[in-house]
Amino acid sequence: MNEINLAIIIVLVFIILLLLYLLKTNKNSIKSFLDKQTNIIVLTTNSRVTFINKAGLKFFGFENIKEFIEKYNNLPNLFIEGDGCFSKHSVGKKWLTNIYKEKKEIKVKLKTPKDHNLEYYFLIQISEIKNGLYLLSFTNITRLESDKDMIRKLADYDALTNIYSRVKFNEIFPIYLERRDRYNETFSIILFDIDHFKLINDNQGHNIGDKVLIELTSIVKQKLKELKIRRTTLFSRWGGEEFVILVQFAKKDQASKIANILKKDISEYPFTKVGRVTCSFGVTEVKTNDTEIDIFHRADEALYEAKEKGRNQVVVR
Ligand code: GH3
Ligand code: MG
Ligand code: MG
Repeated sequence: MNEINLAIIIVLVFIILLLLYLLKTNKNSIKSFLDKQTNIIVLTTNSRVTFINKAGLKFFGFENIKEFIEKYNNLPNLFIEGDGCFSKHSVGKKWLTNIYKEKKEIKVKLKTPKDHNLEYYFLIQISEIKNGLYLLSFTNITRLESDKDMIRKLADYDALTNIYSRVKFNEIFPIYLERRDRYNETFSIILFDIDHFKLINDNQGHNIGDKVLIELTSIVKQKLKELKIRRTTLFSRWGGEEFVILVQFAKKDQASKIANILKKDISEYPFTKVGRVTCSFGVTEVKTNDTEIDIFHRADEALYEAKEKGRNQVVVR
């Protein structure tokens, strides 16, 4: 009986040792497989990183896994705030479990300890390998993000004058209508157009015409700054030689004052090669049930009247 027990114990110990050995070699072969991958791969639970492959160590500038884990024991510490990027505040402690349930991938923004001036964007794909342990595969999308950023800027800003484009203005405008409805907050529109601009182009050439547009926008920007209303105004190129300023909180009297100041400043400025340039202004304040079309219709009518009355003047509707 004792001999049988002893034999069973010996066999059991042998099996356990064999299992441990298999588990270890298997683990190593998984890790060496992950080390051969060119993208960054991290194994982590919700709270603790257990592995990062060689590509990851190289990218972040660490010699070994221990060093990395000492600094980034909890992976979200690696990520910084970015537009449309993962934010640990929105998902809490069980961040991986929560993301995994929902979408299985996140966009993140990060910096490496070796170079704090560079910012990178990565798309991280998440798979659960066993209960609570996740494999994260990083794809570098920095180039794609900067291209997207460039395209957005091209659409948002006018290429010649670098002020907001009409596209951007139209995108933001509904916010002010919403604020009018919700908080009874008013605003006014100043629409203005250069007088006899065609003559400037005809007499001085298109390049000088362009220069006038640039100089004019910088005079206006400077004045809005001096009046301390840069932050509460939207200044945008409406098209050609026509511009629009939305003045937040302003009643039409206030907007009319601003328009008159701009009118004076512009007409007194010595424009390169051209000398005197004037503008006509149409001003209106938003009303309770106005749509965007209603407001601009009134501003247009006021501007038209200013032109009819002889230009270089402000008309309020
Ligand atoms: P009004 O006082 O009635 O506004 O007369 P105007 O000559 O200013 O108006 P009109 O609409 O006849 O001419 C506008 C001109 O603006 C015609 C167009 O070629 C010129 N223009 C539009 N965009 C640009 C631009 O980006 N650069 C230059 N140089 N000219 C432009
Ligand atoms: Mg004009
Ligand atoms: Mg015009």
